[in-house]
Parts: sequence; structure tokens; C-alpha cells
Amino acid sequence: MNIASVILDIKTQALGGAYSYAIPAHLTDVSVGCVVRVPFGRRQACGFVISVNEDADPASLGIDPSKMREIYEVLAGPFFGEDAAACIMWMADHYVAPLSDCVKLFTPPGGVPSMKKVGHAWVVERPAVGEVDDRWVRLGPAAADYKPRANAVKQQAILDALKSGELRVAELATEFGNVNSSLNSLAGKDVVVIERKRRMRGVPAPDGECGVVSFERPAPVELTQGQANALEHIQKACAEANGSVVVVDGVTGSGKTEVYLQALEQVVSQGRSGIVLVPEISLTPQTVARFRGRFGDMVAVLHSRMSTGERYDQWDLIAQGSARVVVGARSALFAPMRDVGLIIIDEEHESTYKQENAPRYVSRDVAAYMAQRMGATLVLGSATPSVEALYRSEHDPLWSIVSLPERANGRPLPAIEVVDMTREFADGSRSMFSKRLSRALHEVLSLGQKAVLLLNQRGFAKFLLCRECGFVPECPDCSLSYTYHEQGNMLVCHHCGASVPAPSTCPACGSPYLKRLGAGTQRVEVDLVNLIEAFGDVDARVIRMDADTTKNKGDHQRLLEQFACEGPAVLLGTQMIAKGLDFDDVTLVGVVHADTQLRLPDFRAGERTFDLIEQVAGRAGRADLPGRVIVQTHDPGSVAIRAAATYDRHLFLSDELPKRRLLKYPPFARLADVRLWGPDRQEVEDEADSLYRSIMSLLQHQSVADWVVLPPTPCIFERLRGDWHFHITVKAPVDAAVGETLAPLFRSRTCAHDVNVAVDVDPYSLL
Ligand code: ADP
Ligand code: ZN
Ligand code: ZN
Repeated sequence: MNIASVILDIKTQALGGAYSYAIPAHLTDVSVGCVVRVPFGRRQACGFVISVNEDADPASLGIDPSKMREIYEVLAGPFFGEDAAACIMWMADHYVAPLSDCVKLFTPPGGVPSMKKVGHAWVVERPAVGEVDDRWVRLGPAAADYKPRANAVKQQAILDALKSGELRVAELATEFGNVNSSLNSLAGKDVVVIERKRRMRGVPAPDGECGVVSFERPAPVELTQGQANALEHIQKACAEANGSVVVVDGVTGSGKTEVYLQALEQVVSQGRSGIVLVPEISLTPQTVARFRGRFGDMVAVLHSRMSTGERYDQWDLIAQGSARVVVGARSALFAPMRDVGLIIIDEEHESTYKQENAPRYVSRDVAAYMAQRMGATLVLGSATPSVEALYRSEHDPLWSIVSLPERANGRPLPAIEVVDMTREFADGSRSMFSKRLSRALHEVLSLGQKAVLLLNQRGFAKFLLCRECGFVPECPDCSLSYTYHEQGNMLVCHHCGASVPAPSTCPACGSPYLKRLGAGTQRVEVDLVNLIEAFGDVDARVIRMDADTTKNKGDHQRLLEQFACEGPAVLLGTQMIAKGLDFDDVTLVGVVHADTQLRLPDFRAGERTFDLIEQVAGRAGRADLPGRVIVQTHDPGSVAIRAAATYDRHLFLSDELPKRRLLKYPPFARLADVRLWGPDRQEVEDEADSLYRSIMSLLQHQSVADWVVLPPTPCIFERLRGDWHFHITVKAPVDAAVGETLAPLFRSRTCAHDVNVAVDVDPYSLL
């Protein structure tokens, strides 16, 4: 008997395993990756075939043959193959994720067939998204001898129009009105031929076509020494095809993209294909144009700002094998690319590579798994590689690192100046722009050059800051800053749960100027416009780029074009402006509050601050004009800021690593954050306590002594959308199978009615 293993697409079965079904002899097209219709209990369901066992003995699979049910029919697919199937099973365990959520990463945009109950019957619902066709008309074999009747004016007009080549029916209709009856009669006599042709939606316009600015960069005549090294290193890894990982540690502007392009060129010329992941926010026309410029139609693009139809078409181009390189956000990792030889993750340290809903995967680790399985090479590029990547490249024999220490054009990295905002305040200034930053802005804009201002406000957690002495209240037990809670005017430690009333004066110096930090971009924009007006002699555009101004498709492109136009301009924005931008006349970069992030009670706070300053500094002085970077902070002594300002990663790590080792954080440990939420605080807390005990007993059972489980505490964002959030943090040794160990507990456990539970394995943040 042929038996298929099927993952059911039913919410309540989400964490369950796959089910076995017999394949009836008449169904000859059941294969891995197909969507099938099957019976399940008294209902019907859709499912995904994850494996096929030919001539299998049900008994050997532990199934009673008399209870074995049959697949009804194949509805769609196959959408994926054996490699994807293996990856799905691995991810489900590794990230304690529902199988069906893992499968759906690999299915086409727009969805797959599903079952719906209508009255008493189960019906198949097909996704609305699919291919779109256009009807095209050209002259047929009988055209040469055909003479329309004298009064058939429309026929004659159509034939005249077609003499210069084929046309779409829609075009003829715009010109001549309703053409259907004329066309049908002509087609009936073979005078014209009507053909359906697939139309690709919204393939991103080639560079420059829709805008005024050309973002394409020509291939350089000669690689720099660093680039040549890195390329050689990658090509060697590709030749070995053993799933090795190459970290490309290249300063901003060192020409990493050129290395990616040439490495891809070779892989493609050998008949294999490549996947390039870039952070969603740097999927700007600039990036896309550089890949299109080199690979033309062989490039597919996938990201969330495209419509479902557009993504479907790009997905299908890949599935058909016509696209051999895909550039996209993290989900592009799951595109139906065949024979992948090279996976590139640009800006590897970015948090957008962590998916924050199920399956909560880390792209870097999934890509490493895939590369290993498919004999591909994984390249991780960054000017600020993550602490984990740096650590692994020293300790894992499959990992290595190459560096590009210099900019491709031989220019130095811009100097970074740190301004102590507490001193500014002491000197009487109440502005959010220091005197130094104001002066620099004035200078740069007067010269007709451009500035980029970063307002770093990730997190939104508020904390108290004394504007006079820079003091930030911290929990005495955890040395983490307290988070300010509006409710009850309290300071709460989100590590141990301790809370104290918020003081009204600074506990250190007695100053009444205690500020709750977290100014929005809009506020800053108003102040900036006023500042520029006050200069009196410059007329500069201010372009604000944040979540609010980039809601619609094309907003990104439009804002960047506005910024790129000739003349003085300031681009003000959140993290999204920190990377990828490559404009020749940006000569000043300012960071408005460098410490907003630093004060977040999170183990990666220092690393993120360091990364962000290095990245945004990299936007300045990229071409012939030298650049200047001004970082405003209330904490100029902090190691992350001092190290970033001197481009001294060693200094940063020598402070950071011992702390991480001591407190058991990555790269010295692996974490799992178990999150619980629901409308009733007590219920959530009780459930968290009971889950905590289950985890402890599970670990005792497995006799894993070196794991640490922190008791449940409220999350930083304790109250979100009406729910109360708690979490339990699990710390395990680096080589522990964290998800695989915890998964059985979560698969078998049923939760209190109104409480949700999710496990975040390898979380990016513990907020
Ligand atoms: P990164 O991604 O490392 O920040 P980019 O790939 O954006 O750097 O390259 C920075 C700039 O240097 C780009 O304008 C690029 O065209 C240019 N460039 C790249 N390689 C070379 C080279 N070998 N010689 C001269 N210019 C180069
Ligand atoms: Zn103070
Ligand atoms: Zn504490």
C-alpha cells in the first residue's frame, strides 16, 4: 500500500503531528508538496503531503490497516519538494511551531485551497489569486487574401492596425470601441488569431523608468583587494558545496554588494541559483536596481509591499525556473528556487530576520540548515556582524570570516563626534539639537549638500532620564533601567518584577527636570523645520521617513527621489534610514538620541546601539566629499557609544562578552522565551505558574541540569491590546536542542481557556 504523510490545515490541530493516509490506486499524482482533500473524523480537511511511503506496511508504521483512511483527491500543487519537506519538519520542532504554519511558508502567495462547510456539505474554496491573462490579436493565415465588405468599417480599421504587429484586445477596444463581434467573426475565418498570454503584474519598473533618479551602479573596472579576497573565499566555499558559512565583515561602503553580485554570477553560470535576503526596509529601488542591472529578467523580487498578485507572479517565475536569482525579505528564503548554490543574507545582524509570529524563526539559522542540506554556501554580510555570527566564525569549523576593512573608493570612514546633551542642558540649551549639530546642519545645507538625521525610537518603552545629570533610575538588583509605567506612575524592573513609585526629582542630584524619554519623529520634524527657518539663509527640503509616511506602495521610492534631487535636503527618519542608502552628497549624519535604545532593559541593547551608530555613520561621505557624524547622547561614557564612535569593535566586545557569559545570554547560551497572554491577569499568571512547574519537571525528567528557567514575570509591555502578558525565560547551553526538548510538552499540553501560549526560541529581544 502507498501511504502519504499529511499535515492537516486545521487550526486546532496546529501543533499536532502529520497523519497517515492511504493513496488509492487511481490517484497517480500524489507527491510531496501537493494539497489533498482528506477525511478527518466526521469532517473533511485540506492537507499537505509531506512524504510518500511506497509499498509500506501500515502495521510497521504503527497504524491499524482497517482504520486507515484514503485521500479523496489532489487539489493543487506540488508546491515544494523533499528539501522543503525536511525543512518544514525541522522548523516545527526547532521553533516549537505549528506544522501548518511552517508549510505555509513554502506555498504560493495568495494561499492554497481550503475546506469550508456550507450547510451540510464540505466545499473546496480556491484562492482568488492566480495568473492573469491578456488576449492578444495578430493577423492570421487568411489575412492576405481577405477583403472586408465595404460597410465593415471596424473590421478594416482593426486589420489596418494589426499590420504593424500584434495588439492586445484591450488596446483595440480603447481605439475602436467594442471589438468583440468583429474579432470573433475575423477569427472564425482565420483572418486573425486571438491568443491568451500570461501577464506579469507590477514587475518593478527597470531603474529610472518611473523616477527621475538613476540608482543603478556600473560594475567596477577592478575589485579592491578586500573584495577580491572575499570573492575568492566565497568561491572556494561554493566549490566545496558542503554548507559552509562565510561571514563577510566589511565596513560600510566597502563594496559588499559587488562581491555578492560576482559570486552570484558564477553560481548562475554554473546552472545553479541564488537567494539574496536584504532587510525589508532596505528593499528600496536602489537595491533592486543593482541586481536587475546585472541579472535583468533573471531576478525575481519578493517583499511585503508588493500586492499579492505581484508576489504570486514573481513566485511563479521562480517555480517555472525562469528566475534564477531572488532578492527579497526574509520570506524569500522559502521561494520555490531549485538547485540553490548560494544564499546571501545582507546586513545579517538586522532584527528583521527574526520572524515575530509563528513560526518564530531566525533566517540565519534556517538558511544555515538549508545550505547544509542542499550543499549550498551561506554568506552573511554586515559592517556589524552579530555577536553570534562573530562567535560562531571562531568556534564552528564550518564557519569562517573574511574582512573588507576599507571603503571601495579608498576614502576614510567619516569621523564620529559625540555630544554630551547633559552638558548642553547645563549650558542653558533646551533644544533637541545641540549647538554643534545645528552649526553643522547650517554649514552643510549652505553648501547645497545633504544631511541624514536619525531618530532612534525603537521599542517605545519609556524610561526616566535626568536632563541635568543624565541619571537613569535602575533596579538595584538587576542593574537594568526601570521602565516607566503611566499606570500608577510607577517604575518597574522587567527582569525581576520589582516596582517603585516614580520619583518627582532626580534621586542623584535633586533636579526637577526628570524627563520621560521617547520623542516622536513628528515633533522632531517641526523643530527641525523651525531650526532651518531660523538659519534665515538656507532653503532646504525636510523629508520625513518613518512608519507613518511609508504606509503605501511607492512611498519609499518617492521620498528617496525627493531627497535625491539636486540641492540641500535633510532626511529625517527612524531606523529605516540607517542602512542601504547610497547618496554621494550626504556629508552629515546626526543621531538625535543615541541612548533611547541603550536604556532598554534588553540584553542586546548595547549591541543594537553600537550597530546602529556604525550603520548610520556609513551613510555619510560615501563619495568624494568627506563626511561628518554627530552623535547626541546623555551617556557619552557608555561603552557602546564610545566604541562605536571610534569604530572599535574590540572595545565593545571586550565589555559585552564577559557580561553575556556571566548572565548566560547568547552567544554563550540559547534562549527560549515562553510568552503567555490573555484578558484576565490572574488567569494568565496562574497559567504561567503551572507552565513553569511543567517545564521544570520536564527538564528534571530529561536530567538536563545546566538549564536555567527564570520564574514567570510580567513582560515589559505588560498590557497590550487589552491582554496581560507574562513570560518565562529559559536559558540553555549553546549546544542544547532547545525547541526539540520543549516541543513535546507544548504539543501535548492544553491551556487554560482564555490564555494563549507561544514559545519564542532564539528570541531577538526579551522585552
Ligand atoms: P557596502 O554594501 O559594503 O556598504 P556598496 O556595495 O554599497 O558597499 O558599495 C559602495 C560604493 O562603492 C558603491 O557606490 C559601489 O558602486 C562602489 N564600488 C564597489 N566596488 C567598487 C570598486 N571595486 N571600485 C570602485 N568603486 C566600487
Ligand atoms: Zn539628576
Ligand atoms: Zn530587577
